[in-house]
Amino acid sequence: MSFAGQTKKELTLVEDAPCCQQTEVRAIIAWNGVFHVAESRRVLDVETENVATARRIYTLLKGGFDVHPEVVVRKKMRLKKNNVYAIRVPAIHAEHTLRSLGWTSIPTAGQVGSPPAQRLKSCCRRAYLRGAFLAGGSVNDPGGASYHLEISCNAREQADSVLSLMNQFGLHAKQIRRKNGFVVYLKEGEKIVEFLSIIGAHQALLKFEDVRILKGMRNQVNRLVNCETANMNKTIAAAVRQLEVIQLIDERIGLSTLPAHLREAAELRMRYPEVNLQELSLQSGNRVSKSGLNHRFRKLEEIADGLRGSDGGKLSSRA
Ligand SMILES: [Zn+2]
Repeated sequence: MSFAGQTKKELTLVEDAPCCQQTEVRAIIAWNGVFHVAESRRVLDVETENVATARRIYTLLKGGFDVHPEVVVRKKMRLKKNNVYAIRVPAIHAEHTLRSLGWTSIPTAGQVGSPPAQRLKSCCRRAYLRGAFLAGGSVNDPGGASYHLEISCNAREQADSVLSLMNQFGLHAKQIRRKNGFVVYLKEGEKIVEFLSIIGAHQALLKFEDVRILKGMRNQVNRLVNCETANMNKTIAAAVRQLEVIQLIDERIGLSTLPAHLREAAELRMRYPEVNLQELSLQSGNRVSKSGLNHRFRKLEEIADGLRGSDGGKLSSRA
């Protein structure tokens, strides 16, 4: 099951006060409720592709409103051919329920739409966001390429209400217009975690955090490895250059012609070709310091440069 699917499944098990249950149902119907005629009677269908959400709608309607919904399953015609579940209530019962939930005008056909805006108690704000997420929400798997949570809305006022509620919780939500509606979305991992907590998806939240922390650790390890590699490359490049210089001198004039302190540095380098100056100094028994070695290798380079210069660069060191 996708992360979004798991999150929704968890949300459908949240237990809530009656005021919050009503608010959640109101949001779900506003998003997904459609009046139409089926088998020559007018009905309200509340549709969802998520089976857990379907069960939630069924339970909330039956428990809170004394209606007896039917469940109708059909295959979606286009795209992935998922199942679509419709929780179906006869129009006459539906209208009664909608009025009790705050709708003042009810369409005869098509999308139910939102009731007039109501001031929500703070407990109910969470329930409203939960309902909107169950009806129109999705969230990327935290292990994926980018963090993204969104709620798609049919109408601007729905998007506005979700945006304003989310931002009352300090979530930095944004809104965009899409071809068939409006989308309110979150892009910051931290804010997605907060949203999951607000709507009561605590298991999903923990899973999201686990993956996020793991990802953060992996990035940090990669940074350290890259840094280490860069330093190693620098050490190796320096050692290779020193070895080339030593070889050139040896070929042209012989290492034995060098002053003793330079010969010592050259021999040390040949014995320990891949270590840095710090370690090379250690290998000298700390008799020569790191900066002392640095100085000696610079001298050797000068000698090599001189030798290269004397033959016009014809026989310059092999690359
Ligand atoms: Zn409430």
